[in-house]
Amino acid sequence: MTRRVSIFGATGSIGQNTLDLIRRDPHAFKVVALTGGRNINALARDAKAFDAEVAVTAYNDCLPALKDALSGTGIEAASGETALLEAAERPADWIMSAIVGAAGLPPGLKALEQGTVLALANKESLVTAGPLLMETARKFGARVLPVDSEHSAVFQALQGENIDSVERVIITASGGAFRDWPIEKLASATCAQASSHPNWDMGQRITIDSASMFNKALELIETKEFFGISQDKIETVVHPESLMHALVGHVDGGLIAHVGPPDMRHAIGFALHYPDRKALPVERLDLAKIGQFTFREPDLARYPALGLARDVMETGGLSGAVFNAAKETALDGFIDGQIGFTKMAEVVADVIEIMSPQSHGNAAITLEAVTEADHMARNEARSLIDRKS
Ligand code: NAD
Ligand code: MG
Repeated sequence: MTRRVSIFGATGSIGQNTLDLIRRDPHAFKVVALTGGRNINALARDAKAFDAEVAVTAYNDCLPALKDALSGTGIEAASGETALLEAAERPADWIMSAIVGAAGLPPGLKALEQGTVLALANKESLVTAGPLLMETARKFGARVLPVDSEHSAVFQALQGENIDSVERVIITASGGAFRDWPIEKLASATCAQASSHPNWDMGQRITIDSASMFNKALELIETKEFFGISQDKIETVVHPESLMHALVGHVDGGLIAHVGPPDMRHAIGFALHYPDRKALPVERLDLAKIGQFTFREPDLARYPALGLARDVMETGGLSGAVFNAAKETALDGFIDGQIGFTKMAEVVADVIEIMSPQSHGNAAITLEAVTEADHMARNEARSLIDRKS
């Protein structure tokens, strides 16, 4: 049976890896919607190659170029936030959420209203609005499958297990580009240096977030929200080889680990074929050649983002939305050369502090409340960055 699939963020790193898997099995899938940003050439190329029903760019000023590129093909072209939501309403059996940042939340929620399968790479959806996302899935009978490698690993390690017997969940961290740098050098790290990951090939933003461990901070919160596990049971450990992605510890003291090459096509493919397993084009590990797996304690002075994530998990409410928005804005400031690498965590900590009255745990998590908290946090972060630069 042909399955209808849509990919939000199709032109990005996760989107392209998803299309790579679909391309290998063309009769199994019918591509419905593909969405992207300003990379119109790639969006139009893939919309044609996969004969999509509709291609959507997030930006209205890119629509003429998209229409031009698709003229005569019969593929619809559309743009903007409403068009993204409409694309999420198009009937599909499997929808990939791989937009980067909080912008991924509204189309993800809309997709869930179809009662379909949402493959979730967009961790920001869970960080900003975890309870809302999971409740929407329950309400509409939809299924959320994790695509982040660590969360796919935990999910796989939990197959056939009782969540009540889980004592701890350990997600591993590569330590990012600067794990072996002297800590005093971090303040002068450049964007180019932070944009190169030792093990994974990913989009620029998540790569920089790996160097600062803001990515791991988001993932700690993601673990809590997705699996409903309390924060005191969630740990992270630095594992420089990036081969063991997560471990689940049970009350009997046993740890079940998930091991695989650092290739996102494994986690994407697992979600694409779930509940079946299908052959995937990923490297098979030669353990004798690898020789050893090493682990180290994460240094909280080097990675202040991890401490901030603990505060957010403790507070709950809208603090995840504030944390993420401040982080996204600080990251923009770093990429634009306005603030240094270590200033990002300072900005985020200050915004969390300033906005603590609004983000307390009792705040209702609606899309409107999350959007408002997100906007306020971005404004606060912007003015702090302007003062620091
Ligand atoms: P990317 O930057 O390579 O691609 C992002 C995609 O989102 C592109 O298609 C871009 O056009 C689109 N986009 C960007 N801003 C947008 C906006 N405002 N509105 C609509 N579309 C927009 O990012 P990526 O590395 O593929 O990451 C995508 C998501 O997956 C992120 O949430 C990331 O944290 C998560 N993730 C990525 C990886 C990885 O290996 N790349 C691994 C785990 C999780
Ligand atoms: Mg990850």
